Amino acid sequence: MLEKKMKMANLDAVTVKDGFWKNYMELVRCRMIPYEWEALNDRVEGAEPSYGMANFRAAAAGGGTFRGRVFQDSDVYKWLEAVAYSLMWHPDAQMEATADEAIEIIAAAQQPDGYLDTYYILTGIEKRFTNVMDNHELYILGHMTEAAVAYYRATGKRKLLDTAIRYVDCADRNFGREEGKLRGYPGHEVAEMALVELYGVTGEERHLKLAQYFIDERGQKPLFFAEERERFHNEYKWKESYFQDQYYQAGKPVRDQERAEGHAVRAVYLYSGMAEVAAMTEDQELFAACERLWKSIVEKQMYLTGAIGSSEYGEAFTFDYDLPNDTLYAETCASIGLVFFARRMFEITRDGQYTDIMERCLYNSIISGMSLDGQKFFYVNPLEVQPEASRKDFYKRHVDVQRQKWFACACCPPNIARLLASLGGYMFEQSEDTVFVNLFAAAELRTGVGGHLSTLHLETEYPWDEDIRIRIENEQPTEFTVAVRIPAWCENWTASVNGSRCQETPEKGYLYLQRTWRTGDTIGIHLEMPVRCMAANPRVRDDVGKMAVMRGPLVYCLEEADNGDQLQELYLSEDAAFTLKREPEFLGGTVTIATEGWRLSENEWDEHTLYRTYRKPVYKKQTLKFIPYYAWANRSEGEMSVWVRVKQ
Ligand code: ZN
Repeated sequence: MLEKKMKMANLDAVTVKDGFWKNYMELVRCRMIPYEWEALNDRVEGAEPSYGMANFRAAAAGGGTFRGRVFQDSDVYKWLEAVAYSLMWHPDAQMEATADEAIEIIAAAQQPDGYLDTYYILTGIEKRFTNVMDNHELYILGHMTEAAVAYYRATGKRKLLDTAIRYVDCADRNFGREEGKLRGYPGHEVAEMALVELYGVTGEERHLKLAQYFIDERGQKPLFFAEERERFHNEYKWKESYFQDQYYQAGKPVRDQERAEGHAVRAVYLYSGMAEVAAMTEDQELFAACERLWKSIVEKQMYLTGAIGSSEYGEAFTFDYDLPNDTLYAETCASIGLVFFARRMFEITRDGQYTDIMERCLYNSIISGMSLDGQKFFYVNPLEVQPEASRKDFYKRHVDVQRQKWFACACCPPNIARLLASLGGYMFEQSEDTVFVNLFAAAELRTGVGGHLSTLHLETEYPWDEDIRIRIENEQPTEFTVAVRIPAWCENWTASVNGSRCQETPEKGYLYLQRTWRTGDTIGIHLEMPVRCMAANPRVRDDVGKMAVMRGPLVYCLEEADNGDQLQELYLSEDAAFTLKREPEFLGGTVTIATEGWRLSENEWDEHTLYRTYRKPVYKKQTLKFIPYYAWANRSEGEMSVWVRVKQ
């Protein structure tokens, strides 16, 4: 039967201890959340203004000027969602009071019929729902709903939840197949998964039905977006594009879609909603579409880092194996969306192929989106940069080489915040009789699985260290299963319970250890982490003849600061031997990788010779130093490359 076989652990039942992820979670709680509140109130000097709260204040006061992008409200909601998760694992009366204050202003801006989007409230409410395709009213509804559900779960307070329900009901009265309603659906998806989350809290069938309607109506002919464009003379930005309405994943019904296409963030948000609805309604056909779209991404359109969206034009997927390293989009939010999709697919299937990708995105393309001090952000996450090209090449102008303080379109920073603040729920999931350990971190999970209270203590220095210990503590011996993910990247691993080697073999990437667990029982997992040299399918044009270096879940890269400039002149040996170095004081504490490599000798060339007859290249030896990809651009501006040429 198709259904969710487990759910995320409650965040208040997970304590993440010192270590890799705890650092990030504390950056979110102590720096990003307060900093973003300042940014949302336009109080960060030198940063582009957000206008997020100013718009709500104006709308609540009954009028004023709308400023910023049409979807600016959503940043406030993403911030509130991050606050909610943070409060679950770290109660903070002052933070909660600030959030309550924001919620009062938001609620005061709501219109009598429940409508709530400050752009139309301030620029002309009579024009609302006349450009659902591009003006994000239903996207805002989605983020509002997600924030409301999270804040209700965190605090038990209903104000934002009731406000969201009123807006959802307003949307329900305006959209649908019934006579007199608009047969529309979100131009930017997110409401689909949000409504299923809301249904989880309210149990109201109409909330699930609206999600189902948004998904099934999408792409049906006659096409709503086309009719809307005609009727209201809306601009069709993608008229000349190859993707047309597939930019919005609306070119055909979602069940008929074979490939992941169009705007990458929208796509993975939609697929997450599809997975939710498929599980809730036991819809095999819809689930089959999810599986197909997943494969289309991870088998043909995903970077080694877990980044997606090959093209800046449309911030979109392009075609299979088209994965340029330096002109890409690879938005932080797109990888975050891929994690949302992965988690839902895992919850339905218990298949480690999904949590493996979740881990890949988290350790690479997502945290590369923020600086090590948590105060600067990338929107675009390239696998190769040359600073001068970013400044002078029109086609690389979107590829920043330094993280920025804030963006006018600031979707990524609050998205990172809400994901990292809820990370405990991604680490552990549980069913009635099984605890799933998806991610490894020093952490504690308190669980009632098996009918009695047990605590799982995880001790590890992952991703630097190869060992993970899970110690059980409980009030009485309890029978349950601990399912530990054995990552697909790990070729050699061992597992033991109280020192005796386990006989179990993994099923779909999880080792199921069923025992009557007693206090003191200890599971030992050893995941061998040799340096791995990765190659790409030769159809990926940019990566032919190159290797990339990985260790455990981490992708590594070369930076100019360690290796000099002109990184394209560097070569790895095919049989390279690597040395690992633990550097606690470097880049926030890391393991670097060194190897004897080569550089094309420039002595052979003078600056006046651009071309000459080919002759065998001359190389000189050079030690290459690799750092984890996520940590790049935390020193002086310079070149960076993930893929390195191989000397035969
Ligand atoms: Zn973004």
